[in-house]
Amino acid sequence: MIKKRIVLFFFLAISFAGNAQMDVNTFKEQFVQNLWKTYPDWASSVGFHNYDSVLIIPDSMNRVKEMAFLNAQFKLLSTVKTKNLSDETDLKLIKNFITSSFWNLRKLKSYEWNPASYNLCGTFSYLLHENYAPRELRLKNIFKKLENVPAYYDAALANIKNPTAEHTKLAIDQHRNAINVFDNEIMDAVTRSGLPGVVKRTFSARCEAASKAVKNYINKLDSLDNPNPRSFRLGKDLYETKFKNEIFEHPDTIFQRALARKQFLHTEMSKLTDQLWPKYFGNKVHPRSNLRKIKMMIDTLSASHCEADSFQSTIEKQIPALVKFVNDKKLIGMDPTKPLVVRREPEYMAGVAGASISSPGPYEKNGNTYYNVGSLSGWSPEDKESYLREYNDYILQILNIHEAIPGHYVQLIYSNRAPSLIKSLFGNNSMIEGWAVYSELMMLENGYGDSTAEMWLMYYKWNLRSVCNTILDISIHTKDLKKEDAMNLLTIHAFQQQKEAEGKWKRATLSDVQLCSYFSGFSQILELRNKICPACREKPELLRLFHEKFLSYGSIPVKEIEKLMRSGN
Ligand code: ZN
Ligand code: ZN
Repeated sequence: MIKKRIVLFFFLAISFAGNAQMDVNTFKEQFVQNLWKTYPDWASSVGFHNYDSVLIIPDSMNRVKEMAFLNAQFKLLSTVKTKNLSDETDLKLIKNFITSSFWNLRKLKSYEWNPASYNLCGTFSYLLHENYAPRELRLKNIFKKLENVPAYYDAALANIKNPTAEHTKLAIDQHRNAINVFDNEIMDAVTRSGLPGVVKRTFSARCEAASKAVKNYINKLDSLDNPNPRSFRLGKDLYETKFKNEIFEHPDTIFQRALARKQFLHTEMSKLTDQLWPKYFGNKVHPRSNLRKIKMMIDTLSASHCEADSFQSTIEKQIPALVKFVNDKKLIGMDPTKPLVVRREPEYMAGVAGASISSPGPYEKNGNTYYNVGSLSGWSPEDKESYLREYNDYILQILNIHEAIPGHYVQLIYSNRAPSLIKSLFGNNSMIEGWAVYSELMMLENGYGDSTAEMWLMYYKWNLRSVCNTILDISIHTKDLKKEDAMNLLTIHAFQQQKEAEGKWKRATLSDVQLCSYFSGFSQILELRNKICPACREKPELLRLFHEKFLSYGSIPVKEIEKLMRSGN
């Protein structure tokens, strides 16, 4: 009797589990569909344009909805079983996204202390200026989306409690710089369009209301009574969790690795400086300090640079040379049907970075990839000179390797070709930046720049930047590093100009973990290559295989790539 009942119970349990189990592909499909409903701006940015007209109001109701979405997906996820390692990786990425999002909403709560996390100027500029669909259609979406702008900023103001002074100032500056999209740009396009007069008038009223909402946001932030603002330092606990969510390592591990790399770079740079000394300084006596000696050599080499008006054309000329080098040396296969278009940075992006890549998302695989080059027009002669010395003839080539070939541009093409949408959507920043930083070293290892001592010295200076960014970020957010010591690290130990170092300090007070992604990804990739393919350094055909295999999985964490590579996937 008893035995029978147990058996019966056992059968019931199995059939329950059987009923609730979900096929992995069905799960992924419904997950992505619901993801875009929950995060329409993210959808637009990867080229899924069904929800372009939707503007989510970031109030507490919406946070409840977001949690409900995450909860429902988490429950479904636990019913999905798979034996396929690639699917398992997808599920792991989704799970990490869900747990990180929960943590962001419940613990990090940047929606309370970071006023710069609210900004609609960029979203509207993107819809207005990027030519992914006919202009009439884009204007139609903008028309609908504009309606909720005032409610969006009201919700933002209601959320903000005790913000940091740094993020408050950033939010004010960014909105002041970009408000023109509501003041003029949208209406310029509307006026030129064939829309009926009545629509144009409503359009104009909505732009005016949006502009008023932005101005109100600026004024409220400007006059905020906040005598004891929250510190910009994240603190050890929050920082460690964020680091683990984004980099999949403990910050201490990466910190120790960065200190060792800094030591190595200083030693190598000193040797190279000694080697170059007679050529540039003849019999002149070395300064006693090693760091000052290296700095003298770097300063001398930095004088060789292009001029402001030939900055873009210099970059344009270098791209085919890089393509040729990569092809001649057979370092990695490239897709000749997807050329890189060098363009002047669009006005609406201006000021974000000196150079950047805009690549088509996984839903717009046939779109152009742009290399956006910032213009130096309007800069003071001193600022121009300082920038051009920084991006001198040596470093500019390394920048092009990083941004374009075989760095970001090549990696993103492989990423969009990855067989799983999940893998190309959940881009891991550390893997993406790590690849670009790794490709710099790899090109020099293979003889790029004729292996001159000058090229290596300047490369090491550039590499030292990502190493010191890591030390800086971890020290600021978890070790209370003071500004004076930070400036010392950057100007003396990393040979940076005062202005550049000031900018880096500012960036480190406004972001966290992100500055570590370059070096952590780089060191993970290098370690993986040495483990999995020790012969790669000597055998170019193996190196090429390693690169193509490594990039074939999409922009997923290096540790997940390692598992897939080792399993023969
Ligand atoms: Zn100069
Ligand atoms: Zn990069």
